[in-house]
Amino acid sequence: MAEILVLGAGMIGVSTALALQERGHEVTIIDRNAPGRETSYGNAGLIQTEAVEPYAMPLAPGALLQIALGRGYDVKWNIPGLLDQAWAVLAYARNSLPAAHKRASHVWGKLIRQSTERHAPLVAAAGADNIIRRNGYIELHRTPALMDKALAAAERFKTEFGVEAVLLDGKQLRTLEPSVKIEVTGATHWSDSWNCSDPGGLVAAYAALFQKRGGRILNGDAGDLHRKGAAWVADEAEGEHAVVALGPWSPMMLARYGLKVPMVYKRGYHRHYHMETPPHHPIADFANSMVTSPMRRGLRIATAAELTRHPRLVPPQLKHAEEGARELFDIGDPVEAEPWTGRRPCMPDMLPVVGRVPEQPNLWAHFGHGHQGFTLGPVTAEILADEMDGGEGWAALKPDRLKR
Ligand SMILES: Cc1cc2nc3c(=O)[nH]c(=O)nc-3n(C[C@H](O)[C@H](O)[C@H](O)COP(=O)(O)OP(=O)(O)OC[C@H]3O[C@@H](n4cnc5c(N)ncnc54)[C@H](O)[C@@H]3O)c2cc1C
Repeated sequence: MAEILVLGAGMIGVSTALALQERGHEVTIIDRNAPGRETSYGNAGLIQTEAVEPYAMPLAPGALLQIALGRGYDVKWNIPGLLDQAWAVLAYARNSLPAAHKRASHVWGKLIRQSTERHAPLVAAAGADNIIRRNGYIELHRTPALMDKALAAAERFKTEFGVEAVLLDGKQLRTLEPSVKIEVTGATHWSDSWNCSDPGGLVAAYAALFQKRGGRILNGDAGDLHRKGAAWVADEAEGEHAVVALGPWSPMMLARYGLKVPMVYKRGYHRHYHMETPPHHPIADFANSMVTSPMRRGLRIATAAELTRHPRLVPPQLKHAEEGARELFDIGDPVEAEPWTGRRPCMPDMLPVVGRVPEQPNLWAHFGHGHQGFTLGPVTAEILADEMDGGEGWAALKPDRLKR
């Protein structure tokens, strides 16, 4: 048994703490905020067994031109935001080429397919069944060409990864989801994915389970992590090992320990809207670069990616997404005065960083889950905990790849 500090109480940190505790270690989580209040609060709430390929950068000439000219709403950027992360973005583009993307998908798909079975015992033990729906998630297709592409993707995902999907025509979609007001060409119902009506609440419930099982959560700043003899110390806590699970803040911490982490920070926004009869499932409308999710607080409309240093007060992507959502559903006023914003912590090779930090005794990394950290927390936590207990870990995920 070891004493272990876990820095960060998002989905990744809390899942790490639970996995280590399960193996008999004495674990302290440190966060300057309450559990699940940052990126793990603001996501679309999907636990995505269908997301077997990591999100590649669109490289078709037409798509690139649209992004460069600032048209479209999938990727927005500005010069300071791009300059801050230019090398990481270029590497991300290189890794989005078909051969590299296929290699990443081979690893990523294996992680993703374990996600619901890893969440299941935690949801049950945390008593969080009331905020989990096991009814899948829907992607709309507005044109026959997009529907054909969706059909091909569904067949490929079924053959290569065993993903379940039901293809619906416009009429079948409206039977399943009467809240959709307009006729679209069709939809994919990814039927074995789950979704959550309160993502921050799920992390908080996992954190409460960790405390109930004897774990300690310290409200403090992990930024002063340092060594004292053989121990790691952060705020008032001390441990033989420390795990950096600070999501988008991880590179800042690790730069101090000689590990340069090239992260792409994809900012997203969301806002809730009042809705009398919300949809039964989350519904993605990629033509409008958005996902709508029925949440406890209202219908959450979440946007795609923005590369920017500072968030915008009136984000054009959210404005556009809201217009698209109003076309689809009868929605009312916004719930909050201002939108939420946060950054997806994306690695240029699209794989999370999980394992021992090179040249630092007993320092471990666990971050960089990009678009699917809410899904993957308990999966990669198990891989890390096993490696910390002497297992081999997964070579493709190890931090030493960042040194090459
Ligand atoms: C708009 C949007 C939609 C998304 N939708 C989905 C989805 O549907 N499904 C999915 O799987 N994923 C989704 N994601 C991605 C997912 O939310 C992230 O990958 C995941 O939440 C990352 O979790 P984390 O624990 O690494 O980071 P975080 O949740 O950000 O946790 C990091 C923690 O570190 C703490 N911290 C930072 N610095 C310090 C410090 N100095 N001292 C103490 N504590 C500190 C923070 O307070 C925070 O609690 C989405 C992301 C966005 C932005």
